[in-house]
Amino acid sequence: MAAPRGRLQGKNAIITGAAGGIGLETTILFAREGASVLMADISEPALAAALTKVKSLVPDSARIETIKCDVSKESDVQAMVESQDSWGGTDVIFNNAGIMHADDADAVDTPDKIWDLTHNINVKGVWYGCKHAVLSLRRHKKTKGSIINTASVVALVGSATPQLAYTASKGAVLAMTRELAIVHAREGFRFNALCPAPLNTPLLQDWLGDDQAKRHRREVHFPTGRFGEAIEQANAVVFLASDEASFVNGTDFVVDGGMTKAYVTPEGPATPAPQ
Ligand code: NAD
Repeated sequence: MAAPRGRLQGKNAIITGAAGGIGLETTILFAREGASVLMADISEPALAAALTKVKSLVPDSARIETIKCDVSKESDVQAMVESQDSWGGTDVIFNNAGIMHADDADAVDTPDKIWDLTHNINVKGVWYGCKHAVLSLRRHKKTKGSIINTASVVALVGSATPQLAYTASKGAVLAMTRELAIVHAREGFRFNALCPAPLNTPLLQDWLGDDQAKRHRREVHFPTGRFGEAIEQANAVVFLASDEASFVNGTDFVVDGGMTKAYVTPEGPATPAPQ
């Protein structure tokens, strides 16, 4: 009997924002499933620490490398993707890097420079990743490829906490992903958008701080009564990257514990959890 193969065996993957949160957990799962992974992030110290952690958790045979990349700079993204040419080209790219700035606010108070910064990273960064992935897939004459872009549930439902630049940027990611999914479908290139709900990652911790009341006001909107974990997003990304998802294209892939489907009163869901 043939040895069991990982679900991503033989695939070369790039993950942006790989030094923390969702990107780091996804790197670990990708490597365990047999992918070769290029971890990209703007922060070199964070990348170095993340690489040490990943190497301690994945098989020694896994190919894992890092590259500094600011996704808002096209030259950086091009260099990142082209650096995988010598690996045999890119099969999967997870355009995941994104920011939510503390000064992001409502229509009146969002500073122009915060709007531009957010859109340069969250929207242009994803566009550049998609563009150079398509060029690479074509250059290497691949007949299939998977591109996963991180959006957010705020692209689907309004946020009561004003963060207009972030919300608009994630809506743009969703719209862009749908169009690309249609345009490139006959080349075999799939595009899907991951829509996470708020998670326990540094991005959320920075925003919540030590404000327990603020945390509770958010958690109560989850039927599950808790935030998600980065690994719960990473599991979905493995599926979307794998050939198991060969007919999954153009989706808003929502991983939110039911949050966007729920009408939850401040007391929590009507049905108490079993004791
Ligand atoms: P995180 O802050 O833990 O990790 C984001 C990583 O992106 C960091 O390592 C950071 O250094 C990197 N980064 C920032 N700017 C960059 C740039 N210009 N170029 C390259 N790398 C850059 O965040 P996370 O929670 O893992 O978020 C990952 C993605 O998920 C983001 O797009 C975020 O908007 C989205 N998201 C997060 C949540 C949440 O609650 N955490 C919810 C919905 C969507």
